[in-house]
Amino acid sequence: MHPIRLIALLVAATALSNVANAQQPFLTTGQWTALRDESNGAVPYENLRYLTTLHRVPATSQFDQAANFILQRAKEYGLADAHTEQFPIDGTKTYGLMRSYLGWEVEEGRLWEVRPDHLLLGDIATEPIRLADYSHSADVEAELVDVGSGTADTDYAGKDVHGKIVLADGVLARVQQLAVLQHGAAGIVSDMPNQTTAWSGLDKTVVRWGHLDARQPSGFAFMISRQTAESLRARMRDGSSVVLNAHVKATVGPGHWTVVTATIPGSDAASSGSAEIIYSCHLDHERPGANDNGSGCVTILESARIIARLIRTGALPPPKRTLRFIWGPEVEGTMAFLASHPDIRQRARANIHMDMVGGDFFKNKSVFHVTSTPWSLPSFVTDVGATFLDTIRSAASGYAAGELSAEEGIVENRVGEKGSRNEFVADVTPYSAGSDHDDYDSSTIAVPSLYLRDWPDIYIHTDHDSLDQIDATKLRRVALLGAASGYAYATVDAQQLPTLIPFLTAQAESRLAQTFGAAQQQVKSSQLEPNMALYEARNLLRQALHRETAVLDSLVAFTGAPPSADSEGVGALTAQATAFDDWLGSP
Ligand SMILES: [Zn+2]
Repeated sequence: MHPIRLIALLVAATALSNVANAQQPFLTTGQWTALRDESNGAVPYENLRYLTTLHRVPATSQFDQAANFILQRAKEYGLADAHTEQFPIDGTKTYGLMRSYLGWEVEEGRLWEVRPDHLLLGDIATEPIRLADYSHSADVEAELVDVGSGTADTDYAGKDVHGKIVLADGVLARVQQLAVLQHGAAGIVSDMPNQTTAWSGLDKTVVRWGHLDARQPSGFAFMISRQTAESLRARMRDGSSVVLNAHVKATVGPGHWTVVTATIPGSDAASSGSAEIIYSCHLDHERPGANDNGSGCVTILESARIIARLIRTGALPPPKRTLRFIWGPEVEGTMAFLASHPDIRQRARANIHMDMVGGDFFKNKSVFHVTSTPWSLPSFVTDVGATFLDTIRSAASGYAAGELSAEEGIVENRVGEKGSRNEFVADVTPYSAGSDHDDYDSSTIAVPSLYLRDWPDIYIHTDHDSLDQIDATKLRRVALLGAASGYAYATVDAQQLPTLIPFLTAQAESRLAQTFGAAQQQVKSSQLEPNMALYEARNLLRQALHRETAVLDSLVAFTGAPPSADSEGVGALTAQATAFDDWLGSP
């Protein structure tokens, strides 16, 4: 047999066995198959189609329209206790450790070049991203002055910007402070980069999202592409006087944050020790904001629909713990909701957070990441997500190689939006901050989070973050990953420990072995004298053992079993770490 053919057969056999077994030991094969068959990528894709028509800045009417849409869907999907909550904001009121911000209502925003060309440069009626958030009302016709980045005093030396409009590519709030408040400019036109990646600047037609400081009393900003900005700069350099007309009708002031929540009640919801698993996302951001973060919001909604329907039809029993779903403004909504519901905060045991999960890997250059909890909060929740990720990735590879069917490969090519046939380009990474999961993982709340995210995304925070970059197959796979992980967190019990502890111990052993490799490098470090290098290497192993032991303990505590239930696993890890420590030797 040709060796390549043999390898292909072995790969296929591995993929097939993974499809059947890799989801073990957290769910039965029957549970996994039921979740997989109910999962759908076209349903979240259609929900996303609507969300991308709204400019979802927190505390605006379009954000509330998005919230109402989610609420209606949650009711249609049969979720319990679906409702919205409004949290007043005025810039001073606090929620937990966080100070509230301000609301913004905008009716009109239009920018024209009046001379020498006569040209419409932006209109929020068709493209809301063209007007920076928290712009104030204005009606001015004025000359444009190039101030470079506009963020340093020297950018204004020898320039009279009073009553004029400045062209700047620096951080908007800083330009507002200097140009508008200190130097009396009427407003700003900006091509500020926002969330740069290796691809930034290659496509000069993208228009980036911008926001001013809502607490400042005046100023407006229009966002233009790098291409348009370069053409304006070139003409001004050649001596042309460019005159613009800016018209904005908007108010910045007190408002409210809206949060939608709904549940799938657990069978022990009425008992005193009842627990909750919380799914979160952030519903805000600019239009279209397809991947960031319409995708996360429609995908937790799809995870909810999958589980609710399977329970309703009797295919799955209700889980022991309650599943709660929360859609609100990023960080602000999470903080306001948790600060206002100490009872829910106290019942929360795990969080699944989705922020950017639908990008087509080959369009937005992303990799899908399962993000580990921080060192301060070791938890088995990461292992659950990583295990289902493996299952889905193997299935996707098997399909892409022509060895598995579309259903086995969890592809969305049935009815409705057709998804890709892509492999699932994904990994497990160390902790990374930057979204609402920070709040759950923080020491004040200390609820371990399974954070699911695409990164990088070359279209983040731009007018190109549209439905065109979204893959219905990816939405289906991530909705399944979310549903399976949440259902596992909500059902896991002490009877599963004899299977789960050895499984988790094996995962921990493989990570300890990796740490041993790092410790060996550390011993050879030329930066430290030999005794110090050995001390640091041993400390690495000691901390890794501490972390992995805490992962096993977290599962035992979750199930309510006695702390000794993982003693065999802890013993195996300690023996392994001791052997590694011996092998490091002495200097
Ligand atoms: Zn985001």
